[in-house]
Amino acid sequence: MKVLYTLKDANYESYLVGGCVRDLLLGHHPKDFDVATNATPEQVKALFRNSRIIGRRFQIVHVRFGREVIEVTTFRGPHNGENTQHVSDEGMLLRDNVYGTLEQDAWRRDFTINALYYTVNGFSIVDYTHGMDDLQSKTIRMIGDPEVRFKEDPVRMLRAIRFAGKLNFKIQHDDEISIKKALDENIHLLEAVSSARLFDEVLKLFMGGYAEAVYNLLLKENIYPRLFPFDQAVDTDFYTEFVKQGLVNTDTRIKEEKPVTPAFLFAVLLWPAVEVLTKQLQSQDLSLIQAVNIAGQEIIEKVNVRITIPKRFRYMMRDIWTFQIRLPNRVGRRAYKLLEQKRFRAAYDFLLLRSQVSQKVVNESDITRSTAIELAELANWWTQFQTESEAGRKTMLNALPHTKPKRRKKKAKRA
Ligand code: ATP
Ligand code: MG
Repeated sequence: MKVLYTLKDANYESYLVGGCVRDLLLGHHPKDFDVATNATPEQVKALFRNSRIIGRRFQIVHVRFGREVIEVTTFRGPHNGENTQHVSDEGMLLRDNVYGTLEQDAWRRDFTINALYYTVNGFSIVDYTHGMDDLQSKTIRMIGDPEVRFKEDPVRMLRAIRFAGKLNFKIQHDDEISIKKALDENIHLLEAVSSARLFDEVLKLFMGGYAEAVYNLLLKENIYPRLFPFDQAVDTDFYTEFVKQGLVNTDTRIKEEKPVTPAFLFAVLLWPAVEVLTKQLQSQDLSLIQAVNIAGQEIIEKVNVRITIPKRFRYMMRDIWTFQIRLPNRVGRRAYKLLEQKRFRAAYDFLLLRSQVSQKVVNESDITRSTAIELAELANWWTQFQTESEAGRKTMLNALPHTKPKRRKKKAKRA
């Protein structure tokens, strides 16, 4: 409100726009607030003390109020006038830095529900694209031809899925111009998106608190395998359920305002491929720990070409995976050593997830009853060990077999 009024008092147009208007109208709590104006970035900056201009391709102004940042953007105009240099041969938008009018700004946005403007002039909504109708009928509808708009910016395909999942809206598909059809036909264009931007988008897909719904849609529209094209067969009941349950747990943590790390999320998303590859490598005479390390490295390298996972997360993912092999080896001082490590908690949560899912789908898939029981016993053991008294821990450790039959048993079973 302060930003809107300050701009208005300086005789500029100013509107709340995008996700915040959409979410407020739906009774949700907006994540952040975006403002659109006809003032240029320099003019905006001159009005607010705690502001700075950011961005190169298209400058926007961040106005800071305590921990809150309001993003103020000058209206953008159409990019596809005379100047064809703005679009690549494939139709992808290269530059998009022309100022425009309010109406032009509305038409270049992605979905109708994202192009609603709220103004303190009459406290009303400005709606050029029939976004209000689509809010009411719970529809994700592209502004313009989905085919063209997806070609301009393939990330819009993931945004369609994200909003459909988050808002529980349907993706429009009844007209001649259908988002769904355009999705099918253009999904390969995701390969042209920069890997850094894809990482950000994947985080938005899975760390917004609606990851389960988003995952279901990605599977339904057959987009998930295009995001994560593994050579390994990971579409089994167990692995689908594993990823789903991992995402359900993430959603719950976010709702409870507990921290979530992208490392744990990516460790979950990639684990199916890592575990399958580990098993393949192990049959080539590598130790289990060697196998999981090599498999982790290989899968991360493969994914990283498309989706850049920052290094610090990659380290943590590999730790979580290696721990899955180390957690069964508890005899002597080993259990204490594992417990002291900084990744223990994440690795233990990961083990719980594996156990939880294996109980759920046992006998339905490639998870055998004995594997499920083994995982449950191991998870329970670690749960108890963490809270036991010192004497209790000693008793637990003494009760363990002092050779390592588990490893041998596993090898024998696979042979
Ligand atoms: P969220 O709740 O996730 O923040 P949002 O709708 O605010 O949702 P943002 O990514 O913050 O999404 O973008 C703000 C607004 O900018 C959108 O509502 C939309 O109008 C416009 N926009 C963002 N990305 C694109 C895009 N790739 N193509 C066209 N318009 C976009
Ligand atoms: Mg937003």
